Amino acid sequence: MSDLAPYAAHESQSRGRRYAERATSYRSEYERDRDRIVHSTAFRRLVYKTQVFVNHEGDLYRTRLTHSLEVAQIARTIARALKVNEGLSEAICLAHDLGHTPFGHAGQDALNECMRDFGGFEHNLQSLRVVDELEEHYAEFNGLNLTFECREGILKHCSYSNALKLGELGERFINRRQPSLEGQLANFADEIAYNNHDVDDGIRAGLVGVDELTEVPLFFEYHAEVRERYPKLAGRRLVYEILRRMINRLVTDLIDTSAARLRSAGIETAAEVRARAAPLIGFSDSTGTANHALKSFLRERVYKHYKVQRMTSKARRVITQMFGAFVGDPGLMPEEHRATAARLEADLGPAGRARAVADYIAGMTDRYAILEHRRLFDPSERT
Ligand code: MG
Repeated sequence: MSDLAPYAAHESQSRGRRYAERATSYRSEYERDRDRIVHSTAFRRLVYKTQVFVNHEGDLYRTRLTHSLEVAQIARTIARALKVNEGLSEAICLAHDLGHTPFGHAGQDALNECMRDFGGFEHNLQSLRVVDELEEHYAEFNGLNLTFECREGILKHCSYSNALKLGELGERFINRRQPSLEGQLANFADEIAYNNHDVDDGIRAGLVGVDELTEVPLFFEYHAEVRERYPKLAGRRLVYEILRRMINRLVTDLIDTSAARLRSAGIETAAEVRARAAPLIGFSDSTGTANHALKSFLRERVYKHYKVQRMTSKARRVITQMFGAFVGDPGLMPEEHRATAARLEADLGPAGRARAVADYIAGMTDRYAILEHRRLFDPSERT
């Protein structure tokens, strides 16, 4: 730990856990956070949750679990190179998607729409809710009791109205300030991971081809480089040789640009990082533009592809119909969730009932959601 930069998250300066706990002998506090996340129930569910492609469409697509591992891996490299806290970055990345609904963004948008009159649904806030409230692992408290710094990093975005309810964690959204460098780099690692693996998955699903992808400047550049070096290379190996160069370019640029920004801004402490209005971690202008072009291509050609749109529309219907049925009659939910709905409703009224339903639905995996929907609406299905 001694080679951490002064602006890194140092455990000696941690704002600690909500419930004080004794230190352990063999692990740092942030490593302990990471281990709690890996042992959580929500983490295991990530195996059967997806981002773009639904789990049953094929065994080789990314799931939220493999995505989270890729993000953590990229973040650790960046953290090490910048001499910031690798353990904290890793923990944030492994937890960043714990609050995601089934069916990726389609599911989250549908649930947000359902919850419009009850405070909305934000997946980042739900990730925090999972680690703060919903995990049931400890005798003395709800949630995983993670450190402030890990919770801060997990809460990537948050609306103003929700920030007002979050106390010290919400402050930075109200004051428009930044999180730790470890939290900032986790966001970029997330983006680098999904942009590149969605290219791979998009090709695998037959939604886009290598030729079309050469419209993307970043892909074009490395396609040319790889073809020059290996003129006969084709298929999967060609794609992977291009993608690993793209990831390397993005990661290297991010490290170099961020290190230069930290130097030129004369940043010396983690407090100075948090006092700033704009992130210190970032791409150079040219790489940022190239990355943006890649994102635009994916949005237009992969995420809006009719096959993806069909799945999106099915997902929206499944979530919306289940929500309506459960809110209309919480007695249709399994006992544990029915009891939670009664408890939250007693506290918060109809918004409490709706929140319990949203928690139940958000916790479902893709395949559980499909099965549960069938059990609710298909009379020939066992209940
Ligand atoms: Mg992610």
